[in-house]
Amino acid sequence: MFVDSHCHLDKLKSTTELGIDQVLANARAAQIEHMLCIGVALDDFAQMQSIVGKHDDVSFSCGVHPLYVAKHGFSESELATLCARNDVVAVGETGLDYFYDKEHITTQQESFARHIEIANEVNKPLIIHTRDAREDTIAMLREGRADKCRGVMHCFTESLEMAKKALDLGFYISISGIVTFASAQELRDVVKYVPLDRMLIETDSPWLAPVPHRGQENQPAYVAHVAECVAKLKEVSVQEVAEVTRNNFYSLFNIQRSIAS
Ligand SMILES: [Zn+2]
Ligand SMILES: [Zn+2]
Repeated sequence: MFVDSHCHLDKLKSTTELGIDQVLANARAAQIEHMLCIGVALDDFAQMQSIVGKHDDVSFSCGVHPLYVAKHGFSESELATLCARNDVVAVGETGLDYFYDKEHITTQQESFARHIEIANEVNKPLIIHTRDAREDTIAMLREGRADKCRGVMHCFTESLEMAKKALDLGFYISISGIVTFASAQELRDVVKYVPLDRMLIETDSPWLAPVPHRGQENQPAYVAHVAECVAKLKEVSVQEVAEVTRNNFYSLFNIQRSIAS
């Protein structure tokens, strides 16, 4: 049984076309035990929850994605209130993305700083999206004392050096389907280095479908391909990758397992 630590169930075309029940049924049939559905904007949050619905094997996070901040904005008190809810297990995704948006760096940083503060206040882990902003991301996490709430560097694609700094802060590294791409040698070296007990796996669906599903819409069911690739690199069984990343997930997000082992 696998866990998908990062997906956007409300953003799947299949959710619109086939319905969420079918998407969840496909995931369960592919041995997906739990999914974490990630918030990207506050004005989206209620809609995300109503589309996905209430299920024992789906949890939610709440946050404002760095690429949504400039357009959507947010109220700090609303973010704090939503993040304190019992059904919200993590704060994010938040972080810095200088690759797609260099224009709003200050706005991104202000938002990121608020998310770190709130994560410490509500004592829930951070879900970090970081791209081409290595030094600023680590500096802000250190400055905000994110080592207290901890969290995960999701869909990690940065350097080994950054992975080491994140591990030093008590963060987990989450590996997506990018690890299966031919061009991702640097990421495969990161996977070899990061201890399995500090690793998570994710799809980031509907984006980034892993080999052999490139070009199709990604879905939680495909997280097994990420686990297979990680298992090869770590020279362990797929079962071991599944089990350890699952335990990491439940422990980081403080989630009670919904299915007995
Ligand atoms: Zn992201
Ligand atoms: Zn995401």
